[in-house]
Amino acid sequence: MKNIHCLVFGHDFKVTRNVTYHVKEYACKTCNKQLTTNSSGNLIELTPKLKEINDVLERIHHKRLSKTNLQRFNCELLVFSH
Ligand SMILES: [Zn+2]
Repeated sequence: MKNIHCLVFGHDFKVTRNVTYHVKEYACKTCNKQLTTNSSGNLIELTPKLKEINDVLERIHHKRLSKTNLQRFNCELLVFSH
């Protein structure tokens, strides 16, 4: 019966983790049900397996981000040296 609020009013999801720009993890404030965005952009239940995938995605995403920033930084250096 603890989920009666969710059954009546629907889940009250908040973002718990930004994995990438498009993939996020959500948890219901009331019953703590967890969701995530899949590769098609749909919300699906967050399973331990999906959490693992998100961990990897997050790592790749942040690695790619820092690499892009580094490349941009190098480009700017090149521009300034000319
Ligand atoms: Zn809920």
